[in-house]
Amino acid sequence: MGKFDHLSTELEQLCNEGRYRPLKIWDSGSDTWMELSGNKILQMSSNNYLGMTNHPDLQKAAIEAIEQYGVGSGSVRSITGTLRIHDELENELAKFKGTEAALVFQSGFTTNQGILSSILGPDDVVISDELNHASIIDGIRLTKAHRKIYGHKNLEQLEDCLKASASFRSRVVVTDGVFSMDGDIAPLPEIVQLAEKYDAIVYVDDAHASGVLGRNGKGSTDHFNLHGRVHIQVGTLSKAIGAVGGYMAGSQLLKDYLIHKARSFLFSTSLPPSVAAACLASVRVLKNEPERSERLWSNTLYFRDKLQKLGFDTGESETPIIPIIVGTPEKTNKFSDRLLEEGVFAQGIVFPTVAMDKGRVRLIITANHTMDDLNFALDRLQHVGKQFGLI
Ligand code: PMP
Repeated sequence: MGKFDHLSTELEQLCNEGRYRPLKIWDSGSDTWMELSGNKILQMSSNNYLGMTNHPDLQKAAIEAIEQYGVGSGSVRSITGTLRIHDELENELAKFKGTEAALVFQSGFTTNQGILSSILGPDDVVISDELNHASIIDGIRLTKAHRKIYGHKNLEQLEDCLKASASFRSRVVVTDGVFSMDGDIAPLPEIVQLAEKYDAIVYVDDAHASGVLGRNGKGSTDHFNLHGRVHIQVGTLSKAIGAVGGYMAGSQLLKDYLIHKARSFLFSTSLPPSVAAACLASVRVLKNEPERSERLWSNTLYFRDKLQKLGFDTGESETPIIPIIVGTPEKTNKFSDRLLEEGVFAQGIVFPTVAMDKGRVRLIITANHTMDDLNFALDRLQHVGKQFGLI
């Protein structure tokens, strides 16, 4: 008996269920067309919403920062790892989000993990949408707080949870701003109203809303004009912003608290200065080039409308995240593989990320897709969709 037999048994099980997926090694950088094993593939599953990953301003800022600061920050933030560029980025993010302060973490994942695990204690309750991101779920698992899960966007259940939570020291309602697997938008105005009625804190993860919703991509709080009524906004620097990292936008008090208490912030080396500089340049591009998000939305509306007219089930999508519901994990991954043979990459998302019969390929539209790109994808999707009996 080998020491890892139990792990290989689990992997075999994944294989049998059609859920074993080796990593794809792409031979070119993140772009609308990418190279895979010598073939040019149209990318329909990247989070590079605004085409920032190869924006010249960001590249220039990163190179200049390497020349000025070197490649690494050398330490965690609380020792020698807070460089001027980190401070500038946080000030710019706070200005952009319209909050008192912002604090940058190493990723969106560790932002959620670090905040939830530190602000919540055994006397508190956290109330979370059932479809919130894994990093929220894991952050909650790290706390001793009481946990309540409400049905997806189910305001009646949310109110029931709030009503039953009056005796706790604090109540935190946490929701994704845009849900990552379905591309639907949280009913934030109603959530805020309920939170105000029951004296709760509102926490929004805007990973897929930053750069996408709101004026110049300021996120769901701006989209719904709820400034000052959402207490904690989380964003990622790895999707629309185009690099890597995460941040909290909120009060100065919260920032100070997290600096001292959030373990993922305290015990992990800070972002490389080149990344911080690229992110800073990206936020400035967002402000100065609103045509990027306009193009993102016109591409999205065009593409979703065409998909629906072809007869595809696009679920609840309201944003550039557009699922095509396929079914079992096996069928979903086969559909994704067939599309790849046709030159289109659309990631299969299967159980346990989504329900067993709700496997889907998740398409993500970007500002940099041209009309020709979108029409090519539609043509191939129609062809393969008919073979799979989806349309
Ligand atoms: N929150 C949500 C809703 C996400 O979709 C993601 C990324 N998959 C994250 C947080 C984590 O962000 P990052 O990739 O920056 O760690």
